Amino acid sequence: MSGREIAYIQEAFAENFISTAGNNLLQFEKQLTQIVGIDSAVALNSGTAAIHLALKVLNIQAGDEVLCSSFTFVATANPVLYLNAVPIFIDSEPETWNMCPQALESAIQDRLKKGKKPQAIIVVHLYGMPAKLKEILAIAQHYQIPVIEDAAEALGSTYQNNMVGTFGEIGIYSFNGNKIITTSGGGALVANNPEYTQRALFLATQGKDLAPHYLHSEVGFNYRMSNIAASIGLGQLEVLPERVKKKRAIFAYYQESLSQYDFIQFQPELSGHYANRWLSCLVLAPDQPVTKEKIQSALAAEFIESRLLWKPLHEQPLFAHCSYYGQNIAGTLFQQGLCLPSGSDLTDTDLELIVRVIQKAIEK
Ligand SMILES: *Cc1c(COP(=O)(O)O)cnc(C)c1O
Repeated sequence: MSGREIAYIQEAFAENFISTAGNNLLQFEKQLTQIVGIDSAVALNSGTAAIHLALKVLNIQAGDEVLCSSFTFVATANPVLYLNAVPIFIDSEPETWNMCPQALESAIQDRLKKGKKPQAIIVVHLYGMPAKLKEILAIAQHYQIPVIEDAAEALGSTYQNNMVGTFGEIGIYSFNGNKIITTSGGGALVANNPEYTQRALFLATQGKDLAPHYLHSEVGFNYRMSNIAASIGLGQLEVLPERVKKKRAIFAYYQESLSQYDFIQFQPELSGHYANRWLSCLVLAPDQPVTKEKIQSALAAEFIESRLLWKPLHEQPLFAHCSYYGQNIAGTLFQQGLCLPSGSDLTDTDLELIVRVIQKAIEK
């Protein structure tokens, strides 16, 4: 927390707007649209809910195929299953670790050949790194397939100077506790087409038709963000720029301090891509003495947590029945990769200790 949240929460208490309506909720949406540079936003109770509604808004039906980044957290693809639609997984490319445009195009061509046109593309900006949007959007446009940007991890990241989440038909963000800013739990769906956000708001609030009584003609959901969560969010939005700055400084420190080891490669940042560096991630080249397990256990011995990269979804038992296109770049990144501690409250002393432990593990 930044310390600024509590004043907004007190406002909400003073107004006695605790639930899913209130000034701070509307203010949070308004500020979010201004910060990311988009027409409209709907604040929701999770990023997962935002993806679910994005698919609903695009009218994805049972049996429809949805092209989806494989290298991501399971929440990207679970909503495809909620709809009984079919995820088709696309590999990463090594330059951003995100959806490979070539694999995407091969997948589309192959699905078309099989007689089925994919109905949406979910592209993830993993660990806050913008995907190759120009190439992906050109393919999407060529085949007329709408794009959902899963920018859950990437609030504050830009691609060619525009915030990610604003390039596709629909963008989603997460404000879960682990993300770069948080509302405790929460998410948002954003779009430049107000019909999309109006439809999402309708579906997020139990699908209540306009009528003097409770009138319902389709299935709705209870997905709205609360005014209290939005109050936390208002305090957090104020510190987003400094959070991005801190996360980038953490990343730069690791990269700089470990630059003498040519077998360590950090997640690259191509020109035009500006990452919020939500997590600092590296991969270790194969066939050299230090493994990720060795680094992890040296860190753990000092009570320092590190984590593995996301296990690609096409390798998950849950999605074993799903098609996958690519050359298993994502699988290789998973095998060789590690997330270093990346919390925005890390001190210089913490960072020095972490690097020292890693250096010792390498040189032992
Ligand atoms: C966190 C996350 C989500 C889901 O967001 P929640 O707010 O936790 O539901 C979706 N996609 C990715 C890539 C995420 O990291």
